[in-house]
Amino acid sequence: MLNIKGHAVPQGHYIDGAWVPGANTYSIFSPINGEALGELPAGAQSNVDAAISSAAAAFPQWAALGAQGRLPYLQRFAEEIGKRKDALCDVESTDAGILLSRLQHGIIPRSMLNITWFAEAALSLQDKLIDTPQAQHFVRHDPAGVCAIITPWNAPLMLTTWKLGPALASGNTCIIKPPEWAPLSSALLMDAAHAAELPPGVLNMVHGEGQPTGAYLTADSRLSRISFTGSVSTAREIGKVAAENLVPCSLELGGKSPFIVLADADVDLAARTGALMYRNATQVCLAGTRFLVHDSLLAEFTEKMAGYVASLSVGDPQLEKTEVGPLIHPRQLQRVEAFVDRAVKGGAEVLWGGTRHEAGELYYAPTMLGNVHQDDEIVQKEVFGPVLVMQSFSSDEEAIAMANATDYGLGGVCFGEESHAKSISFQVRTGFIWVNSFGIRDLAAPFGGCKKSGIGREGGDWSFEFFCDIKDVIVPKKPFSPSFAQR
Ligand code: NAD
Repeated sequence: MLNIKGHAVPQGHYIDGAWVPGANTYSIFSPINGEALGELPAGAQSNVDAAISSAAAAFPQWAALGAQGRLPYLQRFAEEIGKRKDALCDVESTDAGILLSRLQHGIIPRSMLNITWFAEAALSLQDKLIDTPQAQHFVRHDPAGVCAIITPWNAPLMLTTWKLGPALASGNTCIIKPPEWAPLSSALLMDAAHAAELPPGVLNMVHGEGQPTGAYLTADSRLSRISFTGSVSTAREIGKVAAENLVPCSLELGGKSPFIVLADADVDLAARTGALMYRNATQVCLAGTRFLVHDSLLAEFTEKMAGYVASLSVGDPQLEKTEVGPLIHPRQLQRVEAFVDRAVKGGAEVLWGGTRHEAGELYYAPTMLGNVHQDDEIVQKEVFGPVLVMQSFSSDEEAIAMANATDYGLGGVCFGEESHAKSISFQVRTGFIWVNSFGIRDLAAPFGGCKKSGIGREGGDWSFEFFCDIKDVIVPKKPFSPSFAQR
């Protein structure tokens, strides 16, 4: 067991309902202060094999339970997550650097809901009837089989439960491969599943790095689905092996989302919302990171947003007052610094920030770069750190063209008079866009990106469409008479 702030965290893989040690280990650290947190097993091919065998063996019985039969298990799972609230908050804040307050008030309740909402929604996943003069078509949602679930470090608990909820509720069995930089909340999730008496094999976890452990998992031809959230480059690797095995993938990837401020926007509300983009040190896929501001408002908006950003409290994510925490890892800090260096050498102007922050080793000051151009790397590529860019436009057409001129298409934000902002939002090519707001989500709504931001949608019915095999059972209305001339 690891001891994280007084909470015991199991250290092994979780396979077939039991904790399994590993031969090799890797070390984990807290981004808050670099403190060594301990060692975890690095999953070998044999661990992945065992987890997939266990999930495959558990599948028929779990699927046969039906949504009604699975409901009490999943309700108990959510209750057990709730019982571990303090541990999950302390542990995920310690290993992922996420704000403790956000975990307490947002992420833990949402993680419980991710399980119960889909468990209940699955009850109404009834056969859809297509009634024609010839026949009745009973369209069924059958569970697909064994699912691999792979998530990144920036929101491990939220993203893992968001995928596990619909996968388990619709009758699949799962193997999760937690993010290696923030794996500990996944261990507590397995502990919760164990206490909830989920049948052995229904939910398994193999720790380890993307290479080789994640790759062992995604290459296995016994999988029926791969649900992945992470970077474009990893998605390409996974896509290749999934294509080889013809395994459907859901890919939720990065973004470079526009934050548009139209001429008729409420400048103060837009500027206050703009400062929110530094939440989790902008290690947030859906943050608006390219500010596109109408010429007439540029000076006023910049001044107001600078004021709100100056008052942000950067520091230890476990302190109540903190609003912006650390970057996850020294490699992420180097990546952020290198982006800023290259941008400044290319002529970008630092409007604020642009340096490390005094709060500690892995803290970077909320930064805004101006004087950037559409083709610049800093405008095109995802930084995944607290570095935003500001550009201006003079017409709606120009704003839309600039918003759409990157390879990404995840999300967006648009401030302006409501009907105006809505009409612009309809023309921005992304998976979702917030009008005069940010971050409003609902489990029934679709989530995902277009262009290089992903393939597929999860959320509500879209999750069930992905995690199920759709089958048409056709029953003729008149006695059937076999004929070679039949259409
Ligand atoms: P990453 O792709 O490096 O890693 C994600 C996960 O994939 C990790 O668990 C990692 O171990 C695993 N992995 C790595 N190589 C693998 C391989 N070859 N086979 C199987 N698994 C492998 O991404 P990251 O740096 O951890 O996360 C940041 C990225 O995630 C950013 O691009 C961010 O925008 C994106 N993200 C997207 C969303 C979304 O919903 N669209 C949400 C959060 C983060």
